[in-house]
Amino acid sequence: MSTKEQISALLLKSQSVLILPHIREDGDAAGSSLALALLLKACGKEAIVLYSEPLVPTLQFLPGGMVYTEGMELPAYDLCVAVDCAAPDRIGSRLPLFENAPHSAVIDHHGTNPGYGDVCWVEGSSAATGLMIYDLYIAMNIAISPASADALYTAIFTDTGGFRFSSTDARVLRTAASLLDAGAHHTKIYTEVYERVSPQGYLLTARAMSKTKMYFGGSVAIICLTQEDFIAAGEKTENTDNISSLPRTIDGVELSVLLRESKNGEIHASIRTKARINAAAIALSFGGGGHERAAGFTVKEPMDTVEEKLLAAIEACMH
Ligand code: AMP
Ligand code: MN
Ligand code: MN
Repeated sequence: MSTKEQISALLLKSQSVLILPHIREDGDAAGSSLALALLLKACGKEAIVLYSEPLVPTLQFLPGGMVYTEGMELPAYDLCVAVDCAAPDRIGSRLPLFENAPHSAVIDHHGTNPGYGDVCWVEGSSAATGLMIYDLYIAMNIAISPASADALYTAIFTDTGGFRFSSTDARVLRTAASLLDAGAHHTKIYTEVYERVSPQGYLLTARAMSKTKMYFGGSVAIICLTQEDFIAAGEKTENTDNISSLPRTIDGVELSVLLRESKNGEIHASIRTKARINAAAIALSFGGGGHERAAGFTVKEPMDTVEEKLLAAIEACMH
C-alpha cells in the first residue's frame, strides 16, 4: 500500500487526470471525486470526473462530472484515479480506462481493499474517502473553496449516515467544522440528501419495512426486495441507500441485510452490524467487501439461494 505523499507526488507530476468513483455512485464516491478534481484544477491541471451512470436525484445538486457511455471520446489523460473503489470490479465497465492509463492510482478507505493500481492509498480507519481528500488539500496546501467544502462535507456527512454511525469520530467532526468554516452549506446538503425522498421511494421503504423477517431470536433482520416490489411502488431507480441501514435500528438486532434484486437479475446485499459481528468478513466470503459495520456484495443467483447461503454464513459467525 502507498502513502499520501506518494499520491500527492503522482498528482503533481500529472497534467491531465481522469477520476472514476465507484459504480452506483454514493455521496462519498461523488463528493470525494469532485473535490479531488477541484484540487487538481487549483494546481493548474486538467481533471474530469467520469460517472458510471447519472447521479441519483438526491445528489444531483453536486455540480460537475460527466456520465460515461461506451465509446465516448475522452481527452488524453496521463493518470487515472479510482476513488472509494474497494476493488477493481467496483469501477464497473470503465475498468479498461483505468487499466490502460499511463499511470493509475487508488484512493480508498475500505479495509478489504486488496491493493491495485500503480499507487494505492488506503486508510481503513477513515470514516470516508472524503476525509482523505481533505487531508490531501491540507498536505498540498491548497485552499478549500466553498464548492470543495460542499463536495467534501457531502462525502463525510453521507458515509457517516449524517454523523450517526459508529465511524463518526473526533476527526470527522473536526473536519466537518473546518468545512463549515470554509463555506459548506450544511442545511442545503442535509435537505438535498435526506429530505428529497420521492413518493415512490417512500412507498418502497414502507414495503421494505413491512417485509422485514426476523431470525435467530430477533438478532438478525433480513429484507428481500424483488423487482416486483420496485414495480408495485412505482420506483424506477434501484437506489436503496436510505433503506439499507433501517433494519439495524430494531432493538435486539445485531446484524441486518437488505437483499435487492436488480433489473439484470443480480442480487446486491447490504450488510449492517452493531457491535459484535464483522460485516466485511461476511461480505468478503461472498466476493464483496466493505467495513466492519457496513459491507456489501453482488452475486448472480436466485434470491432464495442467496438468502439461504447468507443465513448459513451468519449462523457460523453468531457463535
Ligand atoms: P452498500 O450496502 O452497498 O451501501 O455498501 C456498504 C459498504 O460496502 C460500502 O462502503 C460499499 O462501498 C461496500 N461495498 C458494497 N458492495 C461491495 C462490493 N461488491 N465489493 C466491495 N465493497 C463493497
Ligand atoms: Mn461509497
Ligand atoms: Mn466511502
